[in-house]
Amino acid sequence: MANYKDYKIATLGSHTALQILKGAKDEGFETIAICKRGNTKPYESYKVADKIIEVDDFKEYFQIEQQLIDEKAIIIPHGSFVAYIGAEEVQNVKAMHYGSKGILEWESDRSKERKWLLDADLKLPKVFDSPEDIDRPVIIKFHGAKGGQGYFLANSPEEFHERFKEFPETEDQIAIQEYIVGVPVYSHYFFSPLTDELEVMGFDKRYESNADSIGRIAAKDQVDVGIRTTYTITGNVPIVLRESILPKIFEMGENVVKASQKLTDKGLYGPFCLEGIIDPNLDYFVFEISARIVAGTNPYINGSPYTRLRYDEPMSTGRRIAREIKTAIESDQLDKILG
Ligand code: AMP
Ligand code: AMP
Repeated sequence: MANYKDYKIATLGSHTALQILKGAKDEGFETIAICKRGNTKPYESYKVADKIIEVDDFKEYFQIEQQLIDEKAIIIPHGSFVAYIGAEEVQNVKAMHYGSKGILEWESDRSKERKWLLDADLKLPKVFDSPEDIDRPVIIKFHGAKGGQGYFLANSPEEFHERFKEFPETEDQIAIQEYIVGVPVYSHYFFSPLTDELEVMGFDKRYESNADSIGRIAAKDQVDVGIRTTYTITGNVPIVLRESILPKIFEMGENVVKASQKLTDKGLYGPFCLEGIIDPNLDYFVFEISARIVAGTNPYINGSPYTRLRYDEPMSTGRRIAREIKTAIESDQLDKILG
């Protein structure tokens, strides 16, 4: 039997690295954190990294990659990995990479992503091809916007043009989506190709500035001071869903995995997240999928209420990844989970 101790687990020091490295250590792996010079403190203080490799910029990943290969490190991609290295550059990663690279192409292109989610029978907010068609509240999203900064709302073509004047972007650099009035719910999943089973790991909502602070002041003051809504992510808040919604949550996750298997060779596996809004009719409108671990799992380093039902030990998504890798190594199926 192959020995998992021959392998290490590595990730970039940001996003969900604390959870990933802690989970790896709990499963018995040695760990490596690749950190920006000056940002090593959390990884030292929380004692999650056996080794720290410092870089001036995460873009230097390819310059230190050989070290990871020499150490037999398996790299765990997360939101910052894709954000800093770039969805296209990820295809050039030569170190062992946990997760499917093929599916990233479907996730990072808005129209491909939409086709995938529609194939999975999910409800999606309506998309407007032209601003002239706006006939209800819409949210305008800029391609590649970091953390929802600069999004704005409009109710009509006139309102759209009035606001859009302020931005340097052209109309082909934006997406116009129906604005769903409801509560944001981000559903965290884990699909194992080793057992063919989908697990629901937990839920969160984001804590966004200033969207989550506008309700703290009177509507009149919002108008007087001219406050505009932005969605800059600052953290995550755990939530527990009404139990009768759970069957639908499982079904949605299973449909997304099934649909992905028609798109790429191995399809989607490992952690992923459906991001959307639940409206007063309990319809769940999904506006995005993340095909990897999301930071909304961070409140659950000690396990979520849902993982507690399945596991008699603290099971974060980071630890679940390490457990999967360990099982794959020991059963000689690593090729099933590396992409
Ligand atoms: P950072 O490493 O914090 O600069 O984040 C890199 C990317 O991950 C950005 O595109 C963020 O939007 C996303 N991200 C970081 N933290 C979170 C979070 N807590 N929740 C959701 N997305 C996040
Ligand atoms: P995103 O950058 O796509 O994750 O969106 C950032 C934030 O904008 C989300 O967390 C939601 O609060 C909000 N949002 C995005 N799309 C919609 C939508 N179609 N309807 C309502 N709110 C949305």
